[in-house]
Parts: sequence; structure tokens; C-alpha cells
Amino acid sequence: MNRRSFIQTALTITGALAFLPLIAKSEERRRGGGAAAAAGLVLIDPKDSQAKALNYAHEHKDITDKTLQSERSGVKWTDQKCQGCNFYVKEKEGKASGKTAAPCQLLANKAVAATGWCSSWAKKA
Ligand code: SF4
Repeated sequence: MNRRSFIQTALTITGALAFLPLIAKSEERRRGGGAAAAAGLVLIDPKDSQAKALNYAHEHKDITDKTLQSERSGVKWTDQKCQGCNFYVKEKEGKASGKTAAPCQLLANKAVAATGWCSSWAKKA
């Protein structure tokens, strides 16, 4: 290897190494999480504007409005909880404030309780 090709090879390797952190970050985002999400979940505040708009509660039993308690996609009201919802990211499930929780795709991937519910509940596809 002559000096010129050595320098070219060194520059190519250095350039490729510079992109590694970007590639790692992109992969992390693609998985819908990141180091913060993996380290611990933080339950969404039911007073959060998005949560409120969807009538979200950490506990299914706290939904007392009878007009919301309807069958959806053939699933009885009593069987509708976040853990059985299409938008609950089960693969990222963990603990948050002592509750089993996971990110909700409809709530910007903020964590919701497995026992929770909101008016956008949808049967798993
Ligand atoms: S969309 Fe599904 S997982 Fe998300 S808060 Fe509503 S019921 Fe829970």
C-alpha cells in the first residue's frame, strides 16, 4: 500500500466512523423508544391534554360515564383495557409508578397503565 492509498483508506474509515452514532440513534428511533424509554417508563398524566381528549384513566373501573361503556369490535366493555388494545406497545412493557405500563402509540408513545382505558380503545389487529 502506497502512501496515497493509505491516506485515502484512513479518510474513508474515519468518515464511516463519524456516521456510526447517527446510525445508532436512527435505529433507536425506529424501534420507537430510546435509552430513556428503556431505562424507565413515566405514566402519562390523565390531565395531559391528549389523555383528557380521549377520556383516559389509569384504571378502567374509574370510567364512570355510562355513555362511554359500550361494546367495541365485539369486545365487551368489561374486557377493554389498555393491555388488550391495539395501540399498547406490549414489547416495551415495564413498571411505572408501581403499575404495569407500556407506551401508547396514540398518546405519542407516553406510558399508559395496562389496566387503563381510553375512548380510542381498539381490538388488537
Ligand atoms: S389507545 Fe389503547 S392503549 Fe392507548 S390509552 Fe387508549 S385504550 Fe389505552
